[in-house]
Amino acid sequence: MKDDFHKIGWYASRISAKLPSHVFQPEPRRLWGGLAYLIVVAAGILSIGLFDLHPVLNLLISLVLGASFAGLGFLGHEILHGTVVKKPWLKDFLGAIAFFPLITGPRLWTQWHNLTHHVHTQDEERDPDAWLSYDQMSKSPLLRLVYRIPFPIRAFFSFLSLTLTFSVHSFRMFVSYIKETGTSHKKELWVQFIIPLAAWTGLLVWLGPLKWLFAYAVPLLIANFIVMAYIATNHRLNPLVPVNDPLANSLSVTVPRWMDILHFNFSYHTEHHLFPGMNPKYYPLVKEKIKEMWPERYHEMPFAKALVALWKTPRIYHQDTELLDPRRQHGYGSLGHGLDPDYIRSHHVDLKQPDANESELKKKVVSAVKDKKKPSHARG
Ligand SMILES: [Zn+2]
Ligand SMILES: [Zn+2]
Repeated sequence: MKDDFHKIGWYASRISAKLPSHVFQPEPRRLWGGLAYLIVVAAGILSIGLFDLHPVLNLLISLVLGASFAGLGFLGHEILHGTVVKKPWLKDFLGAIAFFPLITGPRLWTQWHNLTHHVHTQDEERDPDAWLSYDQMSKSPLLRLVYRIPFPIRAFFSFLSLTLTFSVHSFRMFVSYIKETGTSHKKELWVQFIIPLAAWTGLLVWLGPLKWLFAYAVPLLIANFIVMAYIATNHRLNPLVPVNDPLANSLSVTVPRWMDILHFNFSYHTEHHLFPGMNPKYYPLVKEKIKEMWPERYHEMPFAKALVALWKTPRIYHQDTELLDPRRQHGYGSLGHGLDPDYIRSHHVDLKQPDANESELKKKVVSAVKDKKKPSHARG
């Protein structure tokens, strides 16, 4: 099985040979897009703050603000991969500004995303963004309860929760790194968390709760949904893998050109995992090469189709390559393992029920105890 996979470097070296060298240079011109977003954000927040606009108009501004927060997040992602500017302090400073609305500091993001997600993509234990497996679920009574909820209801709520997931996950990562990171990094993590938090709280004091809802809270939910819609499709239809092979564990989605402009080519996710140090501006070139060299390994589909497939398939891994609804014992294929987004179907899976195992274990213990007692009674 391991022979079917290739590491990132195996692909990257074969593609790099066919690319012009300038594609590996940083692209500071990407910052113009960030400046445009910052102007829109400032104008939107000031309009809400200074004028008493109709709630519908305020809501429209919230939408624009949310889209801008997300856009800035995508730019922050490429800035912190070092593909926009090279100077470390400038990279961190600009990354902090771009991630300011999402309250994710550059130290936290680099540790979580660059050093963990990219290095251990779709590794059951080590990728903080990988979905859990049936074994992991079986160990948690709370999760077992959650997965007893009928699948269509779970699908609805998991889509609704995309409006919060990025912020919640970011906070969880913050808490876990605070616990384990060395003292100097700890200070950095705290400072980068407190400053944006204080700024957005300051805005609440200035605007009052109602206007703040339009200026920050609703836009944050919208931004969460936009970034999570991409992040959820990036890997969650792919299998868990024993080797970090981007063609096996990642999906690139296709979107209209205007969306790629607004979202800084974030749709090219397989290309990104192959070349995280290359500016996404050049990912269309990489896609061309992958499709020439390994068309049968590459996963690509329209964004909307990927979201529908995500809705229609359950979110728990079984034996790495299967998506499982443990309640009905229905298994679905993953990408490269029988998942056809045009015709999603399931099959019955025989599961060892964790409850059954437990009660069987209890029976064994009880009978073992009884057996032990018998001779002593006999002796007595
Ligand atoms: Zn990824
Ligand atoms: Zn990345």
